[in-house]
Amino acid sequence: MKTKKSVLVIAAHPDDEIFGPGATIARYAEEGIDVYTVVFSYGEMSHPHFKPEEIMKIRKRESERANSIIGGKKVYFLGLKETRFEKEFYEKGAYKKVEEIIKRHNPEKIFIHSQDDVHHDHRAVNKIFIENYERMSLNAQVYTFNVSNILDIKKRNRPRLVINTSKTFHKKINALKCFRSQINPLSYVFTNNILFIVTYIKSVINGMKYGCKHSEVFFRLK
Ligand SMILES: [Zn+2]
Repeated sequence: MKTKKSVLVIAAHPDDEIFGPGATIARYAEEGIDVYTVVFSYGEMSHPHFKPEEIMKIRKRESERANSIIGGKKVYFLGLKETRFEKEFYEKGAYKKVEEIIKRHNPEKIFIHSQDDVHHDHRAVNKIFIENYERMSLNAQVYTFNVSNILDIKKRNRPRLVINTSKTFHKKINALKCFRSQINPLSYVFTNNILFIVTYIKSVINGMKYGCKHSEVFFRLK
């Protein structure tokens, strides 16, 4: 029976795991907790003019580099097509893979996208996870993180988990810098440049709210 503490992050695209709970992962890793990540898609649609297999390779490599900076143990890729998660999760047998990963690592906490993220794929990950939560008879605590929404304006009555990330925020920033394919100012994808700034502002605002320099806030779902 596995006794070492572990947490699992489930994200839609490579880089969401860092934009969302990146500094928290880094803090858990420093505390000796094993952190595993599941990424639904390689995010190949970010570069429609590249060959999909090329961009998949690049994004996988970026994600693994970022993961080593924040001290995560391993990133699992499900290889599902963006915009088609809900169909492919079952058709391609990804549910078996996720179930197997959860059984193997027995995480005490699972972090997933929030249910009201503005990005369709992010919401799909949340929906699929909830659909499968009972079936997998999980006993992990489940928390949501926000990536695309600029501010958490929705009032939530759920318990929140606040992690002081003042000492690991720099690792999150360094990890985000690994995603060069996403932050090239000349690339047609400029969203991440804005996300980069938003992430910084959110971290500082949450820090001020909870009396530290930086913090990440999660809402309990299960
Ligand atoms: Zn994403």
